Amino acid sequence: MRKVYLDHSATTPVHPEVVKTINHYLTEAWGNPSSIHSFGREARKGLEEAREKVAALMGANPEEIVFTSGGTEADNMAVIGGAYAREKDGKHLITSQIEHHAVLDAFKYLEKQGFEVTYLPVDEDGLVRVEDLRNAIRDDTTLISIMHVNNEIGTIQPIEEIGAIAREKGILFHVDAVQSYGKIPVDVNKLNADMLTASSHKIYGPKGVGCLYIRKGVRIPSYTHGGGQEKKRRPGTENVPGIVGFGKAAEIAAQELEGEMKRLTALRDKLIKGIEERIPEIRVNGHRTKRLPGNANISFRYIEGESLLLSLDMKGIAASSGSACTSGSLDPSHVLLAIGLSHEIAHGSLRMTLGRDNTEEDIDYVLEVLPEIVERLRSMSPLYQRKETCKQKECYAHVQ
Ligand SMILES: *Cc1c(COP(=O)(O)O)cnc(C)c1O
Repeated sequence: MRKVYLDHSATTPVHPEVVKTINHYLTEAWGNPSSIHSFGREARKGLEEAREKVAALMGANPEEIVFTSGGTEADNMAVIGGAYAREKDGKHLITSQIEHHAVLDAFKYLEKQGFEVTYLPVDEDGLVRVEDLRNAIRDDTTLISIMHVNNEIGTIQPIEEIGAIAREKGILFHVDAVQSYGKIPVDVNKLNADMLTASSHKIYGPKGVGCLYIRKGVRIPSYTHGGGQEKKRRPGTENVPGIVGFGKAAEIAAQELEGEMKRLTALRDKLIKGIEERIPEIRVNGHRTKRLPGNANISFRYIEGESLLLSLDMKGIAASSGSACTSGSLDPSHVLLAIGLSHEIAHGSLRMTLGRDNTEEDIDYVLEVLPEIVERLRSMSPLYQRKETCKQKECYAHVQ
């Protein structure tokens, strides 16, 4: 059976070149980078080269990169560290309702510690209104955290503008760029970011490694204490194989970025258009053009996203309903609710995220299989049957 992986926003396969690099640092260059002998120096060299590559892909200086255990740790470091760094100046913080849980839950933790948080709403495309942000800023606002690209609906936020406002007001600005880094251009200076999060496993690197960019001059407290690694900002013997793998993935992403953006945008548009042509009563979630190249998020009325996922899986197609992190819970996605979907429609949502191995044939296969599955699931849905009967009796309006 054909296997089609359409869940690249959850994680990506490790690139074969990345595997080779990691292997070298597991089997040959396995020294401790803090050691001064040749074994240590070799590991140190790999580590610092990786730092250069990761920094280059976001227009940062290598000294501004702190390696972490992934996006979640970096988000926590930025949000909690940023809040406490500026605690003397105020305790009001701003974020959006559609952030990843790594950011949202860090803010919820801060609320319990006595901070006050404004969660900005978004419009029906998932965009933060810059006017809302301006209005939310107070004299005691010290930190703003807004994601670059949303992991569920792919909407790209006006980060440059938001960053410019934060800069003008002297407020720390953090960007969760896990879904944009390596996929669309990310430049910490253009975005006016003081801190920025990236994660390796979303860009064909290994899991369990990521980084926080911290602009030179910005100081945030460290929550782990130990050795002097990462300039004391994140002590502990470095995950050298993971970090060099991340570096290699960043290097490849830089080379392929432009071509992949064009290719994935075309594939995504083909997928969305094909579904719109073949299946009635659907809604495309997220902004049509301010959108991550590989993201398609669609709600199908009258069916459950979970049943859709299982049926697709039986046909070899791997997708996700809403966010992978909330799959398994019965609550509909906070992002889909924030863009104004009813619980019922949010439940019938499917996220398909494309990546480097996907081809035109993959899309053709999905377009062949999906309409049949949707039709079959709808034919079993009581709501849909009632609607069909009503249509014949012209009472459709009553069941809408
Ligand atoms: C995946 C993801 C994270 C978490 O990164 P991990 O490396 O998996 O901890 C944070 N933010 C966004 C937007 C993500 O998509």
